[in-house]
Amino acid sequence: MSGLLTIVATPIGNLADISERAKNTLREADVVACEDTRVTGNLLRLLGIEKPLLAYHEHNERQLAPALAGRVAAGERVAVVCDAGTPGLSDPGFRVVRECRRRGLAVSPMPGPCALIAALSASGLPTNAFRFAGFLPPKSSARLRFLESIRDAAETVVLYESCHRVEKFAAEIVATLGPERVVCFARELTKLHETILTGAAGDIAPQLTGNNLRGEFVVLVAPAGFAL
Ligand code: SAM
Repeated sequence: MSGLLTIVATPIGNLADISERAKNTLREADVVACEDTRVTGNLLRLLGIEKPLLAYHEHNERQLAPALAGRVAAGERVAVVCDAGTPGLSDPGFRVVRECRRRGLAVSPMPGPCALIAALSASGLPTNAFRFAGFLPPKSSARLRFLESIRDAAETVVLYESCHRVEKFAAEIVATLGPERVVCFARELTKLHETILTGAAGDIAPQLTGNNLRGEFVVLVAPAGFAL
């Protein structure tokens, strides 16, 4: 059997979101490379799948990518997963994919949950063109510089943000881009407390209090001049 690297998307909160192909791919894998062996171990247990797990995370990605590609070259089926969502999107994955591509090895995606796409699809903001900027640096000055750089953006900008900074970030958007700029704060997608707030930044910022500040967030900023 020829080797294959599979990039397997896993749920971002709702177990029912795992695809049949993702499950079959995990069942057929020789090894599952994952960010956190406890998280993926739990997922596989829930799915009734037993597989050797290999920790592949931001601290060993560089060293491990060639070794994983080597296993694919030797004919193994290597599945890559992250703690939640699609590997490679603000998560480990890119380096092993690049390594396999460099060596002409087969790489196949098992598409599925991805927080940025889920948020974008339900936001009400333009989806025809968008830019994914991942996590912004924690320093306020760098974040303000970034916001300045998207003042005249022609496309929707999608960001991942920690719940600890969400309130401050909303205030920074109002201060930098103005209260009329349309934004979406998508929280706890696919989970019990899913909340999607879309509107003018000046109206949304005051709603980010109490329970609305807990959990995981995707923040979207509409193109300049966009009105709901
Ligand atoms: N690779 C993942 C994906 O495909 O979505 C993203 C991983 S990144 C390390 C984690 C960030 O994604 C969180 O801090 C949050 O910004 C966002 N995120 C993940 N799950 C989410 C959810 N259920 N609801 C809202 N945002 C989520």
